[in-house]
Amino acid sequence: MALSGDLWTELPAERRIFCSVLLFSWAVYLWEAFLAHRQRRVYRTTTHVPQELGQIMDSETFEKSRLYQLDKSTFSFWSGLYSEVEGTMILLCGGIPFLWKLSGQISGRAGFGPEYEIVQSLVFLLLATLFSAVTGLPWSLYNTFVIEEKHGFNQQVLVTIYADYIAPLFDKFIPLPEGELKQQIETMAKSIDFPLTKVYVVEGSKRSSHSNAYFYGFFKNKRIVLFDTLLEDYSALNKEPAEGEDGENEETKSKTKNKKQGCKNEEVLAVLGHELGHWKLGHTIKNIIISQMNSFLCFFLFAVLIGQKELFAAFGFYDTQPTLIGLMIIFQFIFSPYNEVLSFCLTVLSRRFEFQADAFAKELGKAKDLYSALIKLNKDNLGFPVSDWIFSMWHYSHPPLLERLQALKDAKQE
Ligand SMILES: [Zn+2]
Repeated sequence: MALSGDLWTELPAERRIFCSVLLFSWAVYLWEAFLAHRQRRVYRTTTHVPQELGQIMDSETFEKSRLYQLDKSTFSFWSGLYSEVEGTMILLCGGIPFLWKLSGQISGRAGFGPEYEIVQSLVFLLLATLFSAVTGLPWSLYNTFVIEEKHGFNQQVLVTIYADYIAPLFDKFIPLPEGELKQQIETMAKSIDFPLTKVYVVEGSKRSSHSNAYFYGFFKNKRIVLFDTLLEDYSALNKEPAEGEDGENEETKSKTKNKKQGCKNEEVLAVLGHELGHWKLGHTIKNIIISQMNSFLCFFLFAVLIGQKELFAAFGFYDTQPTLIGLMIIFQFIFSPYNEVLSFCLTVLSRRFEFQADAFAKELGKAKDLYSALIKLNKDNLGFPVSDWIFSMWHYSHPPLLERLQALKDAKQE
């Protein structure tokens, strides 16, 4: 042990940096592989729908989703192994300095000498992107045309991008009409001193139900936004084209009751109670402060580290210290332990916040309504609902449905 310790300290600083980076990267890889292995065991052995979800998930859907996740997990085992080995080979064979030199030759041919570092950097970025596209292509083709074809799942990336980023730009915000729901919302806001000024509904929202309600605005001027998919009386799914008139009477309402999607008023209030809990407990502010502090710290450390020649030497840059390479080395390799720790802490924190917001809704007396609302809202995008606890703790910044239901159930019984 003493001998290996001596060997380690006798190594030049750049060798030690290089070895640490490589070892850490493998440590993270092995840890994640271990978690994925545990999660795969869950996919393999959980063959029945959990009791809590029996009403909203049939065993056929469950089995379909299970087999899909199993195949996906096996696939990502191999693609993950491949990319870890590839990354290691690139580092060991000096791929980064080689690509940098090549970029220099190309920009030199085009008439830009070494004094044009920015041109060389752009060529470098272009080549690196090209390289990763080419080496990644077979994997993504296999994923799309073999795995997703086989299971009839189609990720439809473009559709998702549209639903998540483009469609919201055209969202139509209309004020929530006067009525029972609006009054109840105002009463609840007042009871917890939430400075509510307006309530809006997003009409015809096509989003994949990532979010059902949120609030925005500064200081004493806050608005609440509800998505119409959340509201029973608003959801486009509940509107029948023949009876599109406003004068819908009680009779037709009760006829279509069974088909209705969305939440009852009490459930909407419970969901809002959760969202307002985030506000009341200061979660929003805490998140902003943390991210500001993090950026400050990163730039401070970057400024300190960028002058260290050993860092460049560790990756094969002995006589030049290009800024782009410095950014890459520091943010991608040197910060990676920090990033791993930070992202784990943020995940833990975010889950705590979610549970606290649920508990806040519970304190408002809404445990039962939140329970049924969560089940309704997750009906369509449940995926595979069971997960290994360490896997879930490491990866999910939002607690899985079953864990939330469990916490609410404990609360209900108290
Ligand atoms: Zn939340």
